[in-house]
Amino acid sequence: MITLSMKDLIAEHGVVGAGGAGFPTAVKLAARAETVIVNAAECEPLLHKDKELLIHHWTEIRRGLETALDRTGAKRAVIGIKEKHEKLIQRLAKQLPANTSICRLADAYPSGDEFILVYDVTGQVIPPGGLPIHLGVIVSNVETLYNVGCERPVTHKYLTVAGAVREPLTLRVPVGTPFSSVVQAAGGSTVPDFRVLVGGAMMGRLAQTLDEPVTKTTGGLIVLPASHPLIVRYALGWREVERKAKAACDQCSFCTELCPRYLLGHPIEPHKAMRSVGFGGHETRFRHGQLDENRPTPVSEGLYCCECNLCSLFSCPEDLDPKNVCVFNKSRMKREASQAGNGACRAHPLINARRVPITRLTRKLGLSSFADKAPLSATSLAPARVVIPLRQHIGRACVPAVTVNQSVREGQILAAPPDGALGANLHASIAGTVKSVSEEQIVLES
Ligand code: SF4
Ligand code: SF4
Repeated sequence: MITLSMKDLIAEHGVVGAGGAGFPTAVKLAARAETVIVNAAECEPLLHKDKELLIHHWTEIRRGLETALDRTGAKRAVIGIKEKHEKLIQRLAKQLPANTSICRLADAYPSGDEFILVYDVTGQVIPPGGLPIHLGVIVSNVETLYNVGCERPVTHKYLTVAGAVREPLTLRVPVGTPFSSVVQAAGGSTVPDFRVLVGGAMMGRLAQTLDEPVTKTTGGLIVLPASHPLIVRYALGWREVERKAKAACDQCSFCTELCPRYLLGHPIEPHKAMRSVGFGGHETRFRHGQLDENRPTPVSEGLYCCECNLCSLFSCPEDLDPKNVCVFNKSRMKREASQAGNGACRAHPLINARRVPITRLTRKLGLSSFADKAPLSATSLAPARVVIPLRQHIGRACVPAVTVNQSVREGQILAAPPDGALGANLHASIAGTVKSVSEEQIVLES
């Protein structure tokens, strides 16, 4: 039975969603829910972190799940996991908490998207602009539940290192470890000139430097030759995206026909977002920074885009970038977003037939030649220096609670959100001395 102090500990320990934007878990679990869904879909190509955690740390994950059930009052839990992991499913099935079942998911992308996962598990569609809790559902990632179940401060992060490395693996590293050390732990790159995608091939971002630190939400590093087509795509600037959209979009609408959110019945049609670029549609509504009320509201132009990147990296036969056009439009549609309706949607009758198999996606991304396995390393990294960013996830930046030259022990609070603000505590990930404190980060050395 969970106690009030146990509830407080989730916040005290700085647990945030480890698989996405990092929403504070104590806040999420404060809601009353009917169902807790464990998101074990892990649909980014080459990433294996959640599966490895389920294999090696089920005890902690199970304890975290029981806490989530108790905390939210949910009557049932469902683990959403790819059907291809049948051996693991059989193992888990023998050790499930009460009222917990397993939902076998197709090996398709993006089955880990919350909206798709909730649809696959419950058969219901979260309304556009809505949240799982609108259907009485809480979705929690595997590593998040692991962190809840560990009942200690979040000082370390699990992540997969894959792609052009000698020994792809999943490993545990202190938060703040530089990417360079993580790549080195995987045997280093197999090519001299390489770049790193942070978070995955589909929804990641290009690392600017190998000095960047691992944060509480870094799920994986994909190392690729600098000349790899994916790296070239991620390096394109907005002006080039816009130029190509105007020059080459033939309005075939493949991007829309395979868009997972369109297939859920949401009002989104990326080909129309592309049309808006070519014909000055939505963009002109914001000319000079002003919304032109006389032009129609193009809700289909990207407002409900989940940024899965399927349209840009798989669907478009012209290698255009409707995802970034949707993102560009979305940022300009915040006013409409605040007025987003919560109308019921019906999924497209062909939603199941149009799922994109991971094998085809991996081939299209040019990743088939890399090893698709990343076993969990038995050892943790122990860097002599870590950099802890004060803004690592959703919510306000943390306020430092330590000063330069102060000695700290592993797990000691380094910084906390401002009073009453959404956020999560940050802890020392190694024992050592505070070397510097700024508005952006705290540096520790052992
Ligand atoms: S798939 Fe490509 S070419 Fe076709 S409408 Fe979409 S962006 Fe244009
Ligand atoms: S990134 Fe493209 S495919 Fe994905 S939700 Fe947005 S518009 Fe749809």
